[in-house]
Amino acid sequence: MNLDLTEEQKLFAEQVRRFAREHLASGALKRAHDPGFPFDVAQLMAKQGLMGISLPQEDGGQGGTLMDAVIAIEQIAAECPRSADVVQFGNFGPIRTFAEYGTQAQKKRWLGDLLSGRMVMSLGMTEPDAGSAVTDLKTSARPDGSHYVINGGKVFSTFSAEAQIFLIYLRFAPGLGGIGSVLIERGTPGFSIGKPSAFMSGEEWSELHFEDCRIPAENVLLGPGGFKKQMAGFNVERLGNTARSLACGRYAFNAAREYASAREQFGRPLCEFQGLQWKFADMAIKLEGAQLLLYRAASSADRGLPSAYETAVAKAACNQAGFEVASEAVQIMGALGYSCETLVEYCMRRTRGWMIAGGSIEMLKNRIAEHVFDRRFDQRKRSAQAAE
Ligand SMILES: Cc1cc2nc3c(=O)[nH]c(=O)nc-3n(C[C@H](O)[C@H](O)[C@H](O)COP(=O)(O)OP(=O)(O)OC[C@H]3O[C@@H](n4cnc5c(N)ncnc54)[C@H](O)[C@@H]3O)c2cc1C
Repeated sequence: MNLDLTEEQKLFAEQVRRFAREHLASGALKRAHDPGFPFDVAQLMAKQGLMGISLPQEDGGQGGTLMDAVIAIEQIAAECPRSADVVQFGNFGPIRTFAEYGTQAQKKRWLGDLLSGRMVMSLGMTEPDAGSAVTDLKTSARPDGSHYVINGGKVFSTFSAEAQIFLIYLRFAPGLGGIGSVLIERGTPGFSIGKPSAFMSGEEWSELHFEDCRIPAENVLLGPGGFKKQMAGFNVERLGNTARSLACGRYAFNAAREYASAREQFGRPLCEFQGLQWKFADMAIKLEGAQLLLYRAASSADRGLPSAYETAVAKAACNQAGFEVASEAVQIMGALGYSCETLVEYCMRRTRGWMIAGGSIEMLKNRIAEHVFDRRFDQRKRSAQAAE
């Protein structure tokens, strides 16, 4: 069993790091505090071959592996944590589900603009009454000749303030088997977008409202029965969140390590105090363990879409490690760590969100427990009769 990157992967990592150092490092702090999607970075990355890394070349991708895309997140985040969101968008986000299941006509229409960094896509899954219980979603598509009429609404969609195209989960019919997805363009009559609200990370999202919004049937991505396929695609998105959590934790760890080596109190560098050394040891254990789980999930995913179990284990471990390490890094750096003059507080805020987004830690643990006991645990309230 070889736990090392291959020579090719090491070379790729070095190339990406060089690119990040040259083009992204100097603007990293400013970028972290800008809520807008960094289209300039996306266009630069497109030229560098960092968009669509694992998409087939015939779709405009690079024909690489998911592991390559994970390496790209790690190397970009090491210089500019915010720019790792662009790697996420171009490789792991809804773009991946879209590229996997979209028709040739759909891909021809939108994929080129998405991969070149000219356009961003937003995923509308969550609704006010359907968060973790996503299959409770109510947004509906009713057939009307060659069109569908969409009614309902979405909340918390990342990039919704700027996206031109939205991948919307909805139902064509009642029940799990009635769920599918469609593509809806900004500006479609009957589709309105509320004013932006901010997450703790500074990223913005807007409410999406659909009132008798007519879309052509060609915009259906996955028809009724598509939910399982969508969730398989969504496991790729989860891996991106997993990789960014760990990468932000590592960024904060490295910043705190440098600080503790240089900063002196009581006439000694901070790193000479055992109380801090043990913090670093604990942080290193968390990062190293989570790293292996991430690489396991990503490298077995290269033989197909990632396994739900391996992804759940990796995401829960990296979400926890990323946040706990970033939070300890803030503590180690004192008031400076808590200040917006460094990216450490940003990494702490950013990693906090991934403990909720893309499958909360609790929902992931539910999934892991099902694997442990090799049975399904229905989370739904049982009717009084069924419970008897
Ligand atoms: C940074 C960020 C980005 C996001 N981006 C998007 C996006 O692009 N598109 C999109 O559609 N949505 C997005 N979301 C929304 C995200 O998918 C939801 O927040 C998530 O599914 C949880 O739903 P909820 O917030 O409604 O919490 P709820 O489902 O109401 O859960 C509240 C709490 O209860 C816990 N809980 C719920 N059910 C159970 C259970 N059965 N067992 C144990 N604990 C449980 C949850 O873990 C959580 O801690 C984003 C969220 C965040 C924070």
